[in-house]
Amino acid sequence: MTFGTLKIVQAGDPVLRQRARLVTPEEIRSREMQQLIEWMRETMRDAPGVGLAAPQVGLSVQLAVIEDRPELYASLPPERVAERQRRPVPFQVLFNPRIDSAAERAEFFEGCLSLAGFSAMVPRSLRVGVSCLDHRGEPLTFQAEGWHARIVQHELDHLNGTLYVDRMRPGSLTTMENLNRYWNDVPIGEVLERLRTAG
Ligand code: ZN
Repeated sequence: MTFGTLKIVQAGDPVLRQRARLVTPEEIRSREMQQLIEWMRETMRDAPGVGLAAPQVGLSVQLAVIEDRPELYASLPPERVAERQRRPVPFQVLFNPRIDSAAERAEFFEGCLSLAGFSAMVPRSLRVGVSCLDHRGEPLTFQAEGWHARIVQHELDHLNGTLYVDRMRPGSLTTMENLNRYWNDVPIGEVLERLRTAG
């Protein structure tokens, strides 16, 4: 733990199941909200994770932070990184985010800091159009692709009280340890084939 990191709540905490409230531009510009953004950034980096939503630190407000860095996927083989369309995402602040458009879907293993130690296959859109307010309370629209799109959808779910286990492929839940041991090096087509023929 470093200064400024917050406690991440785990599945079962009622705050993770609430629809978070919208935030006004005035609130976003407040000292308290700017401080919260910084603490959430530090908490996400410390965990480490690629996204963090305010309900995960016990606050039911529509705020999520996102950042993906190459060192976070350095242990994945390059082919698996390419398959996931995983590329660096600079630090991003999303208030009151909405998905305006979505494209075709793909399934990959994903995890959550509020379901520590587990992962499962989750279908997500490969591209999303997003509108939100930025860290200054100004309207922002952007397109997210590949792994970035997955992160956005995961964090947006948190703001609506949804966890990935609500959307996962049944039978695909694994511990992180077994994800690394049995699944992470396997091409995704083969993963799907093995899951289909299991049991
Ligand atoms: Zn999560």
